[in-house]
Amino acid sequence: MARDLDGRSGGFGRRFGDLDRSLLLHCRTSQVTQAAETAGRAGGGLVVTADRGNLRGCLGRARHLREVDHYRRPVLLDAARYVGDARLPAAAPFDQRWIDCQRDLGLPVLTDSGYLARDDTAGLAGILERAARLGDAIALLPMHPSWLADRIARQTLIRYVAAVGVPVAVVVEESANPFTPASTVPGLLQLLGCGVPVLVLRADLPALGMLCSGATAVAIGTEPALRRLDPRRPARYRPPTGVPRPSVLVRQCLSYAPLAEIETTMRRYPDNGMWDCGCATCAGRGLGWLVDRPDGERGRTAFRHSVDVLLDLRAELTGPSVQLNEWSWRARCAAAASRRREVGWDLLPMLDHWQEAIAPPTTSRMPAPTSRRAGGSSRFSRATTPRSAA
Ligand SMILES: [Zn+2]
Repeated sequence: MARDLDGRSGGFGRRFGDLDRSLLLHCRTSQVTQAAETAGRAGGGLVVTADRGNLRGCLGRARHLREVDHYRRPVLLDAARYVGDARLPAAAPFDQRWIDCQRDLGLPVLTDSGYLARDDTAGLAGILERAARLGDAIALLPMHPSWLADRIARQTLIRYVAAVGVPVAVVVEESANPFTPASTVPGLLQLLGCGVPVLVLRADLPALGMLCSGATAVAIGTEPALRRLDPRRPARYRPPTGVPRPSVLVRQCLSYAPLAEIETTMRRYPDNGMWDCGCATCAGRGLGWLVDRPDGERGRTAFRHSVDVLLDLRAELTGPSVQLNEWSWRARCAAAASRRREVGWDLLPMLDHWQEAIAPPTTSRMPAPTSRRAGGSSRFSRATTPRSAA
């Protein structure tokens, strides 16, 4: 039984089971209509982020989604108080109205936590204890990467999370260094092993590996700003201006690329076999057909293609054996890194980090299809809340 640091027991409703092994789209309130339409498949769902602190708008859209659109896939609401230069610290109290409104809507309760800075152990304990007192909440932990990369900090994090026992949803801030520290991936894998349900939110595609390794759910952003958490910017920093270029997912590269870049690369390497797409939207066509869509349709079609591919990958990577899922993911990361090299695209360090974090198969003996998933004995487990068929 999960207990908080004061020894009280926690309890979680069965509705949490709907999240089991879900791949969620992390989207803005303004993107909900399109995201719900495309993520309406088995295994899909949404994390809806409040735009610029507009909690009322986010709640209103969620109510419409449930009561008018009758959307029945998992939905989480993200108050995003940990974002931007005016972010709140981890010590900031939760907004009880935000918590109550999620309950009223019948949604899993995700805490509106502030940002967990490096070495802020009191902030960590505070978020976990307050989430445990709510009795039905997922503790949102938007954290500095040192909590996973630094050995002592990681041990502290895992000890507290395991002791309190509430499910946690992790958002890992981008490292200020150009490369994410390699130890972030093994750090997350250790957190998965601590016996508490773990979700990874506001992530990029490589977070799919966490789903292979037993994460309860992973949320991948619909746009670059929702696929990462930026560090606080220097005072004189001015964000880049201009219209963002539409990006689409290139399945064999396990990454997004701007359509314009895909078009250029396709012309240079027309026969390397990575441009045809078998997703429901493309139906075997080459990705060039997305480029050729009329201006008014291109963005929507590209969005649908990317979500289709994500949910296809999710279905392929969440078999009954965690070990086989991990090996499959490792092999895909190796192949994707090789594909990117072939066409001269930048290397993605995360693809290497995953290959280093998962031990390769060393024996011909195939493992029995068992689950060593985190939180296997909790009410998140498939034994009590079978997931929808993929
Ligand atoms: Zn496609």
